Amino acid sequence: MKVLVPVKRVVDYNVRVRPRPDGTGVDTAHAKMSMNPFDEIAMEEAMRLKEGGVVDEVVAVSIGSGDCQDTLRSALAFGADRALLLEGDTTDFEPVVISRILAAVVAEEAPDLVIMGKQAIDDDCNQTAQMLAGRLGWGQGTFACRLEVQDGEARVTREVDGGTRTVALSLPAVVSTDLRLNEPRYLKLPNIMKAKKKPLDRRPVAELGVDLSARTRVVSVAAPPERGPGVRVASVEELLDRLKNEAQVI
Ligand code: AMP
Repeated sequence: MKVLVPVKRVVDYNVRVRPRPDGTGVDTAHAKMSMNPFDEIAMEEAMRLKEGGVVDEVVAVSIGSGDCQDTLRSALAFGADRALLLEGDTTDFEPVVISRILAAVVAEEAPDLVIMGKQAIDDDCNQTAQMLAGRLGWGQGTFACRLEVQDGEARVTREVDGGTRTVALSLPAVVSTDLRLNEPRYLKLPNIMKAKKKPLDRRPVAELGVDLSARTRVVSVAAPPERGPGVRVASVEELLDRLKNEAQVI
């Protein structure tokens, strides 16, 4: 069984992002970049399936600039067998375009399962997995907090409002990961070294012949308003009074 794991290069979650002065996007010029945290969870889950003997091959794929090689090397250090970079000028393709590109990769690679993040922490779109499954006509298990694969079926426990919901998907299928699915492993130096020798194939994304044109345009990106300083209150009564009459939240 083969698993495809799409991994996105994003600004590291510890970095405090700033909009560019012209408001056209986020300033990534000197920011530390990392694998999208939900994609790390996807990689970890794929590796656990491989280590459990359920999966034979794990292929990581990233779409974006040449810098995404770093992200793919991390995926290889997790234990992916090989990696594929679909190279374009940007990682900022919108989800509908990414889903088209991934559908073309799926047509070539024929995986039994795609495990991917529920959302990229830069655009917070939470759309690509759903669009990919729709495009392929495959079942989808989104927001997975538990995944079991056996007898040609993926059993996905999903985080829903107020609890969980378990669905059984016939394979092939698309699964998107939620935070509680697992805790990704720490990448050890020997595995990072081994990853340097694993195959990483680079191809221009334009070669796939898919429509890369955008359907949406970012109008502006702005930082949230600055928070004012806090106030120390003398008593619970004063706190309640201020919440009621000043903040008007109770
Ligand atoms: P989004 O719908 O943009 O929130 O992204 C959801 C998931 O789609 C991510 O967690 C990745 O698994 C995948 N994805 C999005 N953009 C890319 C990209 N440029 N390269 C590889 N995977 C991506």
